[in-house]
Amino acid sequence: MTRCTNCGTRWTFKEKLRKSFSFDRGMPCPHCGEAQYLTWHYRKKSSLITFLMLLLFFLPTFFNASWQAHVSVLIPTLIVGIFLQIHTFELTDKDDGDFWNV
Ligand SMILES: [Zn+2]
Repeated sequence: MTRCTNCGTRWTFKEKLRKSFSFDRGMPCPHCGEAQYLTWHYRKKSSLITFLMLLLFFLPTFFNASWQAHVSVLIPTLIVGIFLQIHTFELTDKDDGDFWNV
């Protein structure tokens, strides 16, 4: 459950989805306006999920599979990956800094 660290309001799926496709480091809370950032822990988890998604994307290539097999792996992986990324959202009120500089 993703809650704003300032006002405690729960973020909706749509708000989290919008944040996940944003390149800005901080995003104002839609309820109180306080800047919220993704935690370092979440970003680490998100990187792992992305890595696993890429591994699954290319898995059919190792077996010389048809393009239909690629699509049948790609679509569920994309849907599950995006759902996991959004479902595991963690917010903080302070910027943890760059991923590589922590
Ligand atoms: Zn808030």
